[in-house]
Amino acid sequence: MARKLSRRSQQRIAKNMALIENINVLLCSITEEAITDFVRRDAIGVGHDGYPSDSMPEHSGGGFAGSSTESAALFGLPGAKGGTDDWNKAAQRRGGADVVRKQLASIEASLRNANKALREAAYQITNLNEKTEKVRNRQTSNPCELCGIDAAQKSGWCIKDYKEWNAAGRPDRARWTLWYRQTTNSEGVLLVPDQPQGT
Ligand SMILES: [Zn+2]
Repeated sequence: MARKLSRRSQQRIAKNMALIENINVLLCSITEEAITDFVRRDAIGVGHDGYPSDSMPEHSGGGFAGSSTESAALFGLPGAKGGTDDWNKAAQRRGGADVVRKQLASIEASLRNANKALREAAYQITNLNEKTEKVRNRQTSNPCELCGIDAAQKSGWCIKDYKEWNAAGRPDRARWTLWYRQTTNSEGVLLVPDQPQGT
């Protein structure tokens, strides 16, 4: 286990650790605050140029599907103080809103991809660990002498069989084995027909 790794292998480890470090840094840069900002802009339908903070439709509980007057106010549609300038600004802002909407969708897709990729990597690692563990268990332990299925963990028997024997008062192991295996003599008669009881 403690065999020294080649330079190439060590570089490989360093490269992967740098990737992990990078992922951590990136992850920290994606804050709830940032996500919230995007979602809020998308919900309100405004772009990067900000939004009227005093007339958020969410305050009215209606979301984006607020009254048309509200939407008009948000988009700066010509209304109370109309004009072609306002029309242009509104069009610009709606363009920005589309950009925000696309960006948010792209962020969400990227997050899902990252989640999937990392989960796959984590799964492979867990999988390898489990397989190694299984192989190691198989190598270090023989099967139970009684059932032959589970690993022998106590005096040559598996825990389940050991516990059963123990609960029976720890009778003679040879007799217990004969009873357990339902061993018969040459005439087919059970050598130990009844469960041996200990003291
Ligand atoms: Zn067993």
